[in-house]
Amino acid sequence: MLADRIQRIGFSPTLKISAKATAMKAEGIDVIDLSVGEPDFPTPDNIKQAAKKALDQNFTKYTANDGILPLRQAICKKLKEDNGIEYEPDEIIVSAGAKNCLYNLSVALFNKGDEAIIPAPYWVSYPAMVSLAKGNPVYVQTREENGFRMTPKELSAAISPSTKALILNNPCNPTGAAYTKDDLMELAKIALDEGIIVISDEIYEKLVYDGFGFTSFAALGKKIKEQTIIVNGMSKAYSMTGWRLGYAAGPKEYIMGMSKVQSHNTSNATSISQMAALEALSGPQHEIRRMVTEFQIRRNYMLDRMRGIPGISCYEPRGAFYLFPNVRSYFNKEHEGMQIRNSYGMAYYLLKHALVAVVPGESFGAEGYIRLSYATSMENIMKGMDRITKALAKLEPTREAKVISLNNAITERKDFVETEVHVGPEMRDSLVAEAEAHLAKNKEYYEWNANILGVIIQLRTNLPHLYDFWMENWYPGQLETDLEPHGVIYAVGWIPGREPRAYYNSETKTAVLFKSAYYGQLRSLAIGMADDIISRISNTYSVRGLGLDFDGNGLMLIAPKGTGKTTFFANLLSHPRSKLVADDVVFVRLNSKEAIADAPERKLYMQTNFVEKFPDLAPLFDKSKCENVVTSRDQCVNGPCQRSTGSGGLDSCRLDRGSPFCYEASPVSRAMLDPYWIGGTSKHAKRTNLKWILLLKNDPVSPVVSTPKVEEAVRFCVDGLSQSGPMRSEPFFNPHLLTNSGDRMEARRRFYEKLFEIARPYFINLGAADKDEVQKQINKVVGV
Ligand code: PMP
Repeated sequence: MLADRIQRIGFSPTLKISAKATAMKAEGIDVIDLSVGEPDFPTPDNIKQAAKKALDQNFTKYTANDGILPLRQAICKKLKEDNGIEYEPDEIIVSAGAKNCLYNLSVALFNKGDEAIIPAPYWVSYPAMVSLAKGNPVYVQTREENGFRMTPKELSAAISPSTKALILNNPCNPTGAAYTKDDLMELAKIALDEGIIVISDEIYEKLVYDGFGFTSFAALGKKIKEQTIIVNGMSKAYSMTGWRLGYAAGPKEYIMGMSKVQSHNTSNATSISQMAALEALSGPQHEIRRMVTEFQIRRNYMLDRMRGIPGISCYEPRGAFYLFPNVRSYFNKEHEGMQIRNSYGMAYYLLKHALVAVVPGESFGAEGYIRLSYATSMENIMKGMDRITKALAKLEPTREAKVISLNNAITERKDFVETEVHVGPEMRDSLVAEAEAHLAKNKEYYEWNANILGVIIQLRTNLPHLYDFWMENWYPGQLETDLEPHGVIYAVGWIPGREPRAYYNSETKTAVLFKSAYYGQLRSLAIGMADDIISRISNTYSVRGLGLDFDGNGLMLIAPKGTGKTTFFANLLSHPRSKLVADDVVFVRLNSKEAIADAPERKLYMQTNFVEKFPDLAPLFDKSKCENVVTSRDQCVNGPCQRSTGSGGLDSCRLDRGSPFCYEASPVSRAMLDPYWIGGTSKHAKRTNLKWILLLKNDPVSPVVSTPKVEEAVRFCVDGLSQSGPMRSEPFFNPHLLTNSGDRMEARRRFYEKLFEIARPYFINLGAADKDEVQKQINKVVGV
C-alpha cells in the first residue's frame, strides 16, 4: 500500500496527452500536437558545442553539489544584468531543471499542514509538489476579466495563520498572464506584512510579447528579496528542456535547505548540461530574440483565429507560449453521439474528431478552458486551427439529454480514524456530554434506530450524509419513543481543536465518533457493537466473509485482505443455482445441528471498483446512493490504471474521455446497493444454513484443497494472519470487532470450534495452482 500522499496525486495529464499524440503519429495518423510544453526550436549551436567540448575534456564526473562555481557566477551576472538583483554564488543552487528546484524547495520548506497559496489556473506540478511535501495547497481562482492575475484582495483573503508561501508563476503557464511591476509591488506589500515566503517561478521571463517589461519579484526591494526565492532555468529561453537544467536564487538559508535535499537525491545537475548552461548564459543571446519574434507572430495568428470562432473568448497572453481559451459554451453539445460535458471531454473530442491534441483546463484547476501551445510550426498551427474550427462547428445542442447525475457524497475523510476501545465510564460520560452539547447547539440533528438482527443501535448525529446512509443501510428499528436502544452511536462533525477519533465503551454500548463523515467507519462501529451485544445474549457472532447460498446450503469465503477472494466469489455467484447472502459480513447463530447465517444489512455498502470484475454493476450503481466516487480526473487514485494508460492509452480512461465520474478510480468509492437489484428476488437470500467454510490462504507447500482438523481451522481464524504480503494479524479476519479482551476472544474461539463442527472447513491454497484450477476445485467442494 502506497503512502496516502502518493495515492492523492496522479500522473501529469499533459504528459499523457502528448504521449498519445506521439503514439498516434507513430501509427501514421496525422495528428497535430498543440499540447506541447517546450519550444520547438533546436538548442543553439554554440551551446551544443560547449557540451561537446565538456565531453571531450572528460568533464563527466560528479560536480559540486550546488553546481559548478563558474555557472553560479554566470547566474549571478545574469540576475544582475537582466533583473537588477545582486546575489552571491552561495545564494544560487543549480538543479536538474526548474522543476527539481521547486521540488527541493517544497521538501525543504513545508511542514505538515503548512499552506501554499497557488493562484489558479496553475502549472500542474505545484499542487502535487506541495502535497508530496505534506503541505496543503490553497487555491486562489483568478479571473479571465482580470487577465488571470491574482488581485491583492484575493491574495489577502487566502492568507491564514498556516500560510507559509505563495507560489507565483510569472509569466504563467497555462494562461500567459504576466504581472506588471505595479501589480507585483502590491502583492509584495502583502507578503511583507504577513511574512509570507514568495516562490517566484520565472521560467518564462524571456518569452514576453508586445514589449512587455518583465520584473523579477526579488527586484522589488531589499526586504522582499529576503523572503523571495527565484526559480528559473534553461528549458524555455534556450530551448533546452531535455538537458534538465534549472536554478534558484534566494537567501542562503533556503538555498542551504534545498542543497541538503539535493545532496540526498540527485547530488548535482548533469556535468555536461552545466557546461552547456554556462555557455547559454554567457554566449550570444540573439537566438532568444529570434524565437520570441517567431512566437509573437504565431500568438497573434492563433489568437485571431481563436477569437474568430463563435462562442469562444480568449485572453491575449502577454508571455509564455500558450493560449487558454474559454470553451464552456460548447459544453453539453454533441456530435455523432459524443457529448461534451467538461474540458476533458472537449480535449478528447478534439483529439478524435479534429486530430488535434490540446490539454484540458481542469488539469490546471480551470474547468471550462483548454490549453493550446503555439510552440509548433506556423503550418501546424494553421492546420490545427482549421481543424478545431471545423470540429467545433459540428457540435450541436444535445437533442436528447442524456442525464447522468450521480447521487454522490464526497467526504473530507475517506479512511478510518483511530478507534479507542478501552474507554472507562468517566471518559465515556465526558465524551457523551461533549457530543450532546455539540448536537444540542447544532441546528441539524438526526436520530434513527437501526435494527441489526434484533439489536437496536441508535444513531445521533449532525451529519446529514451519515444519517442518509445509515437509514439506507439498515432495517429500521421500532419507532416507539420509549424504546431504549441496545446501543447508541454519537457521530459529531466539526469540533474545533478535536482530533478525528472514535471511542467505544463496551459496558454502556456507547460509541462516539468525532470529525468523520466517512460512512465506512460508522457502519463498522455498528457491526462491531451489534456483535458485542448479540454475542453476549445468544450464541450469535459476526463472521466476516462473503456468503452464498446453494439451494439452502450456505458457503462462506473467509480470507485475509488482498487474496483475491472476490474473483472466486464472482464466479460462484454467476452459477445459476447460487444466491448472494452478504458481501462483507454475516451473523451466525448456532444451535446443536445448524449454523444459521443471516445477512444483517438491507443494502450492501459495496466498493464501486467491483465494476472491474462485474461490469453489470455499473448501471445498478448509477441508481444507488454513492460515497466518494471520483468525479474529476485529478482525484483519480487508481495507480495501476493510471500507469497502464499513462503512455498514451487515452481511450481506456473514461475520465480522459470526459466522463463525469469513474467507479474504478478509487478503492474507497462506495455505493449502497440493493441486493435484489443484482438478479431479482431469486438471486438473494437473507438467510442460509452454513455447510462449507472456505479458508483462503497462500503458501508454497500445501495442496489446493485440504480439510483441516477443527483446531487447525480455528487457529487459522483466531490469528487472522495474512498469508501473503506484509504479515498482519486481524483476529478472525474481522476488522469490525471492537472487543478483543481475553474472555471475549475465548468465547469467540469456542464459537468457531462449534461452527467448524457443523460447517466443514476447507483450506483453499491459492499458492498451489492457477486461478482456473483453484476455481475448479472450489466448484468440486460445493458440488456445482
Ligand atoms: N515551471 C513552469 C511554469 C513550467 O511550465 C515548467 C515546464 N513546463 C517548469 C517550471 C519546469 O521547467 P524545467 O524544464 O526547467 O524543469
